[in-house]
Amino acid sequence: MTLDLETAAKERGIKYFLVSYTDLFGTQRAKLVPAAAIRSTCKNGAGFAGFATWLDMSPADADLLAVPDPDGLIQLPWKPEVGWLPADLVMDGKPVEQGPRNILKRLIKDAARDGLQMKTGVECEFFLITPCGSEPADMADKQMKPCYDQSALMRRYDVITEICDAMLGLGWKPYQNDHEDANGQFEMNWDYDDALITADRHAFFKYMTRSIAEKHGLRATFMPKPFMDLTGSGCHAHVSVWRDGRNVFSDASDEIGMSEAGYHFIGGLIHSADALAAITNPCVNSYKRINAPRTTSGATWAPNTVTYTGNNRTHMIRIPDGGRFEFRLADGAANPYLLQAAILAAGLDGMRNRRDPGKRLDINMYTDGHTVEGVKQLPLNMLDAMRALDRCDVLNDAFGSFVPSYLKLKQDEWNAYCRHLTQWERDNTLDC
Ligand code: ADP
Ligand code: MG
Ligand code: MG
Repeated sequence: MTLDLETAAKERGIKYFLVSYTDLFGTQRAKLVPAAAIRSTCKNGAGFAGFATWLDMSPADADLLAVPDPDGLIQLPWKPEVGWLPADLVMDGKPVEQGPRNILKRLIKDAARDGLQMKTGVECEFFLITPCGSEPADMADKQMKPCYDQSALMRRYDVITEICDAMLGLGWKPYQNDHEDANGQFEMNWDYDDALITADRHAFFKYMTRSIAEKHGLRATFMPKPFMDLTGSGCHAHVSVWRDGRNVFSDASDEIGMSEAGYHFIGGLIHSADALAAITNPCVNSYKRINAPRTTSGATWAPNTVTYTGNNRTHMIRIPDGGRFEFRLADGAANPYLLQAAILAAGLDGMRNRRDPGKRLDINMYTDGHTVEGVKQLPLNMLDAMRALDRCDVLNDAFGSFVPSYLKLKQDEWNAYCRHLTQWERDNTLDC
């Protein structure tokens, strides 16, 4: 039964609700609604001018309505008088086709028609930097190989444990926190769940991490590559697909425990990889993380090629364990809803069309990639990825009018970037 928010507000001491939606570029937009008005907001939605956000709408359009999903309620652990509510988008009485959460829900329903349910866990790497954003905040965090640095982790004990305590309280089952491979970089892991639950938690995690960092005088960033010589922030997604409570990716008779259905799902991701990048690696800056030169730590840990492997972190897809795989392409800028939707759309296409993922490559792709013929490279920049998305039948069919809307907004962004004159151009072209 759906939660009655007015009653929940009284019982839990919630004074305000943050009715929140995520736009095409992943930005969270919200209205703060007093508890006394939440019943009518649930019925009628909270009104927004869609054009004012990244949704490809016009200033002449009717009101965009954000209709909260009571089942997604999360009480802010650092401000319990506020309840966050993820919302679905409605306009003129119809669901907004390009709304990211709407798309994911549509695809989850589509999978359910085949009796399938996707479960995922995400690893949202982030940096703790100075408020002005110019460098990692911890001046003592300078090691060349800073991964798992115990002292640097413990110098951030107050922030990390405040976030982890919050996740414990929310019942997300967090199980580990660490310092990652770049100076100032961290990762916090919680348990996997249904794709929509993970997407809502992913969106909330980004908001929570930024908010709690700010409380501690720091800034948290999920930017894919904030520092050129350091490892960037990925957002790996671990994926399994279930039917009637059974993991259909699990097959003990396979050498590495992956079923035929799992290989077909992977085949789907491989088939659409360059188009997927436009969604999972959505920014100009995303392409400084993939295909990147070696970082000072010794490896970028990001993929360069459309390949899969067993338990080896140098490929786009890793199968660490039977019954699941890790999709390593996505980065910190990925929209939490579109990330899940893109994986599900490409994977379902793979299962339905029995796509062949090709040969598993058990080599160090960073050093020995050149020894294999016919390996496909990931897109080198945002424009190449956008063009691939434009051509991709699988994602155009699954995402509908989202694709032209998204490409239009992204083309504007690309043009704005191209109008930017860089120091590199001046240094290398003034004397041409
Ligand atoms: P690694 O750093 O080795 O990639 P992490 O422990 O950081 O792995 O993250 C693993 C993620 O995978 C977690 O969110 C975990 O809950 C999730 N996971 C584990 N098993 C499955 C599964 N069967 N299906 C989907 N996600 C899974
Ligand atoms: Mg991890
Ligand atoms: Mg990982």
